[in-house]
Amino acid sequence: LGTPNVPQLISPRRKTRKVKVGTTYVGGDAPITVQSMTTTPTTDINATLQQIAELTASGCDIVRVAVPSRDDAEALPIIAKKSQIPVIADIHFQPNYVFKAIDAGCAAVRVNPGNIRKFDDRVGEIAKAASDAGVSLRIGVNAGSLEPSLLQKYGKPTAEALVESAVWEASLFEEHGFHDFGISVKHNDPVVMVKAYRMLSERGDWPLHLGVTEAGPAFQGTIKSAVAFGSLLADGIGDTIRVSLSAPPVEEVKVGLQILQSLNLRERRLEIVSCPSCGRAQVDVYTLAESVQEGLKHLTVPIRVAVMGCVVNGPGEAREADLGVASGNGKGQIFVKGEVIKTVPESEIVPTLIAEAERIAADMPSG
Ligand code: SF4
Repeated sequence: LGTPNVPQLISPRRKTRKVKVGTTYVGGDAPITVQSMTTTPTTDINATLQQIAELTASGCDIVRVAVPSRDDAEALPIIAKKSQIPVIADIHFQPNYVFKAIDAGCAAVRVNPGNIRKFDDRVGEIAKAASDAGVSLRIGVNAGSLEPSLLQKYGKPTAEALVESAVWEASLFEEHGFHDFGISVKHNDPVVMVKAYRMLSERGDWPLHLGVTEAGPAFQGTIKSAVAFGSLLADGIGDTIRVSLSAPPVEEVKVGLQILQSLNLRERRLEIVSCPSCGRAQVDVYTLAESVQEGLKHLTVPIRVAVMGCVVNGPGEAREADLGVASGNGKGQIFVKGEVIKTVPESEIVPTLIAEAERIAADMPSG
């Protein structure tokens, strides 16, 4: 009968140009990066640096700060200097702040052509300043702020309209010999957003920054972003991602990292394989899985822990995992590399799993 021709789920990553963003790169063979944006007033330098430190600790690769006023622009030099990760200045409306951000030592500047009046007249100046300073740009097109002429032409911010805006602005920079930029075409509807990025990826080799804009509160935003990014990343599209949530930015980073890990585009760290529970379960699997996750979140090595409600699938899953438990009769069988090493009372399951995981982690090279 032969092997059925199963399509490959993850396509090879599309070839894009590699753009420097401070100490890291976006596009080309650079790993896909995770971005977030601070929510503190940028003028509050200490609070912003504190939030950047929290983002850095959570695994954020690149951070963006809003620059709505002159005072915010004045805060950029210290923030750019003290941040441990590259800082991107987010500029709307005021082209003058683009130059301030470049002078401030920001790694990159995000410009939104739809929100900068007479932006096209200033492209040459911006390209020259950025090029002289070795600073890259992102052309960040957003459904909520599309140029009026395109809104008129298309009636609403369709995928075609977003792409036309991005391609036009890209051509202006390229006419000035400037190529160090990435592009985003964000929409709050994942279907429109996926279509726009697919179209855009056919039009050039720009590195693409993926985002579902205004994705919503954590639950809805997580799902919208996971669905949209998952579709695109599985097609090899996307060089850097930002999950937008109405939630603290550290949550955005956690979701972004989890999306990449789920597609094996990042090394998996702690992974809990837990069953959904059913009528056979003899322990509270939800609480058990949460407690194990909480107890092991400090581990920095890749480790897979199976938390199973009964012995039906417990031994099988536990064999595939580094560590596991299959529960039953008020007890838990503890597995290490598929072998039962002991059986403990239910109250001892979590502490035993944590102790065993730490022992396994100690024997692994730290990540
Ligand atoms: Fe149900 Fe057991 Fe499967 Fe969990 S492992 S879902 S309790 S059969």
